[in-house]
Amino acid sequence: MIRIVKNDTVKVISGNHKGKVGRVLKVFPNTKRIIVEKVNLVKRHQKARSQRDPGGIIEKEATIHMSNVLVVCPKCSKPSRTRIGHLSDGKKVRVCKSCSEMLVTNE
Ligand SMILES: [Zn+2]
Repeated sequence: MIRIVKNDTVKVISGNHKGKVGRVLKVFPNTKRIIVEKVNLVKRHQKARSQRDPGGIIEKEATIHMSNVLVVCPKCSKPSRTRIGHLSDGKKVRVCKSCSEMLVTNE
């Protein structure tokens, strides 16, 4: 099961962007990479595609690896590891290891 989903708040715990906190904008389950808002910005040169879209240099987030981040628990506000719990109806949920609160996926 994927432990990080879109709209999670995550904290970067290793790599060049250590310490940064942001919202997950996109998850690539196959490569286990994610895009986090304002983290790992790279400058891209974009060609003009139309008059309304003149191109130029834009800053855009590049992916980082899931293993470099921890989900920030909305309940205890700590960057937390999660475990997978089961609801009574058999559904899987992510549970914060620090405070045992369920992390709701708000997709
Ligand atoms: Zn917690």
